Amino acid sequence: MNTRSGPDFTVVGAGLAGSLMACYLARAGYQVHVLERRSDPRLTGGGEGRSINLAISARGLDALDQVGLKEQVLSMAVPMRGRMMHSEDGRLTFQRYGTRETDVINSVSRAGLNTLLLDAAGAAGNVTMEFDTRVLDVDPESGVLDVVVGESQAVTSREAGVVVGADGAFSSIRTRLHRLDRFDYRQDYLEYGYKELSIPAGGSGEFQMEPNALHIWPRGGAMMIGLPNPDGSFTCTLFWPLDGPLSFSALKSATNVREFFSTHYADAVPHMPRLGFEYLENATSSLVTVRCGPWSHEDRIVLIGDAAHAVVPFYGQGANAAFADCPVLTRCIESHRGDLARAFHEYYVGRKRHLDVLAELAIANFVEMRDHVSSPMFRGKKRLERILHRVFPAWFVPLYSMVSFSLVPYGDAVRRAWRQQLVVRTLGVGLLLVILAGAMWLWS
Ligand code: FAD
Repeated sequence: MNTRSGPDFTVVGAGLAGSLMACYLARAGYQVHVLERRSDPRLTGGGEGRSINLAISARGLDALDQVGLKEQVLSMAVPMRGRMMHSEDGRLTFQRYGTRETDVINSVSRAGLNTLLLDAAGAAGNVTMEFDTRVLDVDPESGVLDVVVGESQAVTSREAGVVVGADGAFSSIRTRLHRLDRFDYRQDYLEYGYKELSIPAGGSGEFQMEPNALHIWPRGGAMMIGLPNPDGSFTCTLFWPLDGPLSFSALKSATNVREFFSTHYADAVPHMPRLGFEYLENATSSLVTVRCGPWSHEDRIVLIGDAAHAVVPFYGQGANAAFADCPVLTRCIESHRGDLARAFHEYYVGRKRHLDVLAELAIANFVEMRDHVSSPMFRGKKRLERILHRVFPAWFVPLYSMVSFSLVPYGDAVRRAWRQQLVVRTLGVGLLLVILAGAMWLWS
């Protein structure tokens, strides 16, 4: 296919989406070159960038499975069967995610996952990688990239073939597309930010809380979550407003931090010996949703992962969706080998509306996790959903299960959940009327 000099494809960004996409393209027989701004995480130990661990579920596992990586990823994961809610007075309540043993989400180290994917791409033979190489710009007509290597300030040009922009939520490749005619772009920040904290393993390397759960401390205007790591530790993430009287900007000293946490997260504090230090030293990061389109330019440039559709992390789906882009895009490329512009358009049309739905779901799930998970009404609703799913497994599937444990496209899952709810509500009202009529008949 390559009538141009340089590789067939240049993938910009060797994060989760970029390194998996390199595996897919290599398996399809293309020459792939990968450019990454950071140093090789296999040499530096990784750890730069966002969240230390992530929840990987059905969609991500399916994409990994198609290139033979699922079992390796699962072997380094801690399965989480449900949510463990921590109330302010220390009471614990566990809610299972699904009804089957296999209905788990998997806590995986981001650095470990990235390393595994880079090794897999490197082993493919037709993938070359350059680290410490930052892409500044792309010429949409020729695909030539402007890059800066290492500490040098000198900008050099690279032939790139087809450019796959996998350079994350603040993508340079996407930024170039903004200047093209009829490119839509919208970026929404939450007023909340996040900070990572930790609960180390106990003295003998044991977990200090239930390991097979995603721990949540819902506190109304704030929330902390904790995901287990195989070494017995938990990575906690505090979500809190960035500004205001109760916010990240309000806590300024280690003493304030300890006092505040002792009041609101009392059961976690004894397990957090480095709390004050971590709170003051670890970055506070922002949370952004990116919607844009189209995700491509002619047969030259295509976007995947967060570069195309960054979502806030509350449904644990951003990386899963980024992984799922890779097989879809590869299939489109393979079915329109002579017409990449058409392949990219088909990929965009197939995915875009579902990723827009995910963006909404992710924001709605923040409100649910922060404000509702501990309420009796919410717990009752979840219990009813599980009962209905057990009794009518083919007819009623909770939305969370469709999103996390199936491959049903996000938009279809939401539509089906809405229809199910309508039927349940109608039957509920009908049942109430029958009971009322029966009571009146008995009384009369
Ligand atoms: P990234 O992972 O951001 O990778 C982009 C890569 O491009 C990076 O390596 C970067 O260095 C490189 N790059 C950037 N600019 C350039 C440039 N100019 N030149 C060269 N290289 C460049 N998702 C889940 O599925 N489950 C979860 O539990 C989950 N938890 C999350 C928790 C938090 C706090 C956050 C913020 C996100 C979470 N996500 C989760 C979302 C997930 O992290 C992202 O969706 C995922 O990382 C997207 O992968 P990506 O490869 O598209 O982007």
